[in-house]
Amino acid sequence: MELAGLYQEVILDHYKRPKNKALRPNPMVQVHHVNTSCGDEITLNLSMKNGKISDLSWEGVGCSISQASASVMSELLLEKSREEALDLLGEFQEMLQSKGSISGNEDRLQDGVAFAGVAKFPARVKCALLAWMAFKDAVSRIEDNDE
Ligand code: ZN
Repeated sequence: MELAGLYQEVILDHYKRPKNKALRPNPMVQVHHVNTSCGDEITLNLSMKNGKISDLSWEGVGCSISQASASVMSELLLEKSREEALDLLGEFQEMLQSKGSISGNEDRLQDGVAFAGVAKFPARVKCALLAWMAFKDAVSRIEDNDE
């Protein structure tokens, strides 16, 4: 898989020095998701307070795309409101499913735009989306009135 040099560096950097990796205790919700096509796994701990994501940590194994994407996601979504987080998730997903036609808004997705090139490799799209889908599942299990 050939990604543009700079983007590949961003992904490798998150893979080697992941953010928010190592599960923090007492989450409101914990989910475990598996990408069977590649063997990637992620466990995600999520807590919300006052309508915002107050804690988001994860543990995982798998390819560099899946693990780096979890790192980028955790950094981007922490402290965001549920609505902001789901908007960003929607943009990331749209970019990944665009087959390369959407390059992503760097002001909003930050390091997430590094995954734009992955959209050209359909087999790897699930790798990049794994952590985000785990987040979507986790956040859906927290009712508004639990926050
Ligand atoms: Zn993978």
